[in-house]
Amino acid sequence: MIKNNWTIEEISEIYHSPVMELIFRAATVHHEYQATGEVQVCTLLSVKTGGCSEDCAYCPQAARYNTGIEAHKLMKYEEVVDKALIAKESGSTRFCMGAAWRDVKDNSDFDKVIDMVKGVNALGLEVCCTLGMLNEHQAQRLKEAGLYAYNHNLDTGEEHYDKVITTRTYKDRLQTLDNVEKAGISVCCGGIIGLGEADEDRIKLLHTLATREKHPESVPVNALVAVEGTPLEGNQKVDIWEMVRMIATARILMPKAMVRLSAGRNEMNVEQQALCFMAGANSIFTGEKLLTTPNPDFGEDKAMFKKLGLKPRASFKVEQEELVS
Ligand code: SF4
Repeated sequence: MIKNNWTIEEISEIYHSPVMELIFRAATVHHEYQATGEVQVCTLLSVKTGGCSEDCAYCPQAARYNTGIEAHKLMKYEEVVDKALIAKESGSTRFCMGAAWRDVKDNSDFDKVIDMVKGVNALGLEVCCTLGMLNEHQAQRLKEAGLYAYNHNLDTGEEHYDKVITTRTYKDRLQTLDNVEKAGISVCCGGIIGLGEADEDRIKLLHTLATREKHPESVPVNALVAVEGTPLEGNQKVDIWEMVRMIATARILMPKAMVRLSAGRNEMNVEQQALCFMAGANSIFTGEKLLTTPNPDFGEDKAMFKKLGLKPRASFKVEQEELVS
């Protein structure tokens, strides 16, 4: 049953249940609402890298941290569309463009991003952007250009948020999500585990997502990739069971959402990723880099799909609608 009145207690009970029961329950929900055995392959490209004014403690692109990242200005239209074409030919059905901006400004760079959205949309890919905070008008422009989804992560629970980011508030994030939704763009919103948060913070993040009037279409679950030079460089590696717990709980709470096994996959072996798929993850990002951090390449993922008998999922999720009608 799809519901959006989950309580913290209910979510906590699910999250803390014995892991085998949790996986079984999540897999059952997955079977009911999703085409199991299908995993969507997505590509995330950083179209503008580094030099960001924000202070997200996990992010190598924040200008204030010394991470040795190679910053670059907004890429050219042709380069981006070429990359999107390569991604499509390699099996991706969703292409996300990320720019390290605090918020979108109404300037010529935004006009160029609008053109990129049109160009990638024309390739028949689901187009997603992650550009920072947006107002209603900017969201509308993106929608008109053919944007399918907008990614804007809440990262963690509200109470832990200011321990990770101080240059904007949780409310700012929620406002952008509302603007995106109002424009009729689907919402991609998830979080990162391993930021020094407690289980309660993860549960609260999931509660915020699962009690939205409309569940996000897409929920990325990331494991922190601790990058040298960021304030979180010394954080411990996320345990696979924590990742599985988070994915399984997200799947149970939001049965129709695409649950995306995102950052941190480079450190997981095939068995660990298989556990995540069993727990309800049905999407991955492929291609050497995930924005700026290493990621398995297309070839490795193809081999994994073969080994696990997985099929790449088509774009635009027609079967999701069929399954719940
Ligand atoms: S996560 Fe985004 S907003 Fe935060 S510092 Fe990195 S690029 Fe900037």
